[in-house]
Amino acid sequence: MVDDMLTGAALDPYRVPALAACWWCGSAGPLTREHKFKKSDLGRMWEGTESLVWGDGTELRPLRSMRKSRDVLFDPGLCAPCNNDRSQPYDRAYEVFSDYVWDHAELGWAGWLDMAQVYGEEWSTKVPDLARYFGKHIGCRMARDRFPVPPSLSAFLDGAPHAADVQMVLFKSRPHYDFYRRAQAEGDDGRGLWIEPGLGYVSPSRGRLVTYSGSLIVNFVGVFYRWELDPDGLDPFYDYRRARLHWRHKLPTC
Ligand SMILES: [Zn+2]
Repeated sequence: MVDDMLTGAALDPYRVPALAACWWCGSAGPLTREHKFKKSDLGRMWEGTESLVWGDGTELRPLRSMRKSRDVLFDPGLCAPCNNDRSQPYDRAYEVFSDYVWDHAELGWAGWLDMAQVYGEEWSTKVPDLARYFGKHIGCRMARDRFPVPPSLSAFLDGAPHAADVQMVLFKSRPHYDFYRRAQAEGDDGRGLWIEPGLGYVSPSRGRLVTYSGSLIVNFVGVFYRWELDPDGLDPFYDYRRARLHWRHKLPTC
């Protein structure tokens, strides 16, 4: 039987109860909220502006607090030691990546992202750290959407070389790039942070979620990720110094 692609309320029958323990280490908590967007990213956008506006595709409203707004935080899913101390090297690797992407508009016509340009000589240790930051984001997002967090993600965050059933590739998004260029031409900054809607495939015959995908975008460069019950293998970006920058529209929809 062909799997059905579902989004929003159609996925409700496949959701699981809210987490009662940290999805990374299993501790009973208390659980804390991870930022959907890093504070460092939001702080950079906050500079030179009166306020930030949050949009989720259906509404726009002012963001009152960069630190505490529910708009920028996931539901509780990680204990404080995992969210703060244990993931610190991953958070730092992401900040360096995000800073680089934010300031290098020429990536709009690049086919590759040279991680040695981003991280210098330490790229081979920093790139897996970056991938583990994305792993943390994905786990928190799946938990927030009330789907089971794949056990491979906690093993990956613990240092396993791969999360075999969670693929991650980097991409450039043409619509986000065009938006940025148009804003620049009009004298606006135009850079932003984006999270695409999470999409799930369910197998009616198996009665369960079999694929979950989404993406996180800094200006117009993003990571596309996909958990699959039966993975078919997109090459992970973090095995390479020169990370392939796919076009988003040439990657699978989900
Ligand atoms: Zn924990």
